[in-house]
Amino acid sequence: MRKRLAAGNWKMNGTSGSLSELEALAAAHPAPSVEVLICLPATLIERASRRAEGSAIAIGGQDCHAAASGAHTGDIAATMLVDAGASAVIVGHSERRTDHAETSAHVAAKAIAAQSAGLTAIICIGETLQEREAGTTLSVLDDQLAGSLPDGADAGNTVIAYEPVWAIGTGLTPTIDQIDEVHRHLRARLAARGLADIAILYGGSVKGSNAAEIFAVEDVDGALVGGASLTAADFSPIVTALEAS
Ligand code: PEP
Repeated sequence: MRKRLAAGNWKMNGTSGSLSELEALAAAHPAPSVEVLICLPATLIERASRRAEGSAIAIGGQDCHAAASGAHTGDIAATMLVDAGASAVIVGHSERRTDHAETSAHVAAKAIAAQSAGLTAIICIGETLQEREAGTTLSVLDDQLAGSLPDGADAGNTVIAYEPVWAIGTGLTPTIDQIDEVHRHLRARLAARGLADIAILYGGSVKGSNAAEIFAVEDVDGALVGGASLTAADFSPIVTALEAS
């Protein structure tokens, strides 16, 4: 049985007043049949973890450094996320690959740091619009997956998120056939490494209104959600759709 996960990514949004959304989400899903995770700005992780204690909502970070400690001003170590109460961390989000020039080698190193600290690493990969239009989507994803997924990854410590860059925050989504093609392809690549049971999330403009058809795709094991994870009202229907799939 593969993990089924509804993961939210608040990005650089939210202050302490926003934590009531987590409580509303927890109240709406006291015993979900899928995993529910919210990846928060680092400033909120400890408070959120305390407030989510006893609920079914897990808390995650959005990035970690590859090193365990040291002179890296502004960065955060995987062990610090664990200390604050996180159980997972996103690595290699396209916004970090673009804004911070992160390569797949950086992402793999961060994933190793996360896994070593006991976190689930949610490794993001995805093609740009130019790459899709050029017909290179699958080879781009092959390169990113091969470069970002470290040896030692397994279904317990790793999740893959397929996030087409052009679908993030744009309201655009690939067709269901395109999602199916990519997820099948990634499953085959994982299977070739003996890792077929690693969960593969889809991410990019998932909403309550399109979640059910995306979750009906066989190799989609859940979603990584940005904008629609910021409120319980928007995220709860996505959790419900995953439970029903
Ligand atoms: C994301 O941030 O990973 C994401 C998929 O964003 P959105 O759902 O807003 O497209």
